[in-house]
Amino acid sequence: MAQIQGDHRFFQCSQQCTDAVWDATKKIDELYDYLEEHDTIVIPDEMIPRCPHCGAEAFPWVPGYGNFLEGSRYQEQYQKISDDIEKHLHDKHVLFLELGVGRMTPMFIQEPFWALTNNLPGAFDVIVNRNYQFLPAQIEDKGVAIKGDLARVLKDVRAQLGC
Ligand SMILES: [Zn+2]
Repeated sequence: MAQIQGDHRFFQCSQQCTDAVWDATKKIDELYDYLEEHDTIVIPDEMIPRCPHCGAEAFPWVPGYGNFLEGSRYQEQYQKISDDIEKHLHDKHVLFLELGVGRMTPMFIQEPFWALTNNLPGAFDVIVNRNYQFLPAQIEDKGVAIKGDLARVLKDVRAQLGC
């Protein structure tokens, strides 16, 4: 598994003053506890997560907040997925699973998966999403799109396989 769409467990600097991303889980727990304890949706300014290097606001290391950091951790994750794909390019069968992949940034997962499925002779793409059922025309005979709750779909698969 590679996290090329970032990871909510990490913060990044909103100003990208540093290449580093850092643990966000402790701070999130703190914020969550504060909100619960005070029965509010507002945190005091001094609790806003900040970059330890420059003091700018920090935000989750995922695309969608603007300024997504494609630094060394991103490059490392990107290399990992590229190596994994490279390793299996000549396998007889390659199964791509898009489990709950949204449409916000299709260039990260969907478009490469569809291109690979289309180009590799033994490839097949399985798409599961609770909001839509869409299979692109170029892979309509090499894939299946299932609209449904992921937990439910996986449970059905297990039952089907008898495991
Ligand atoms: Zn900073």
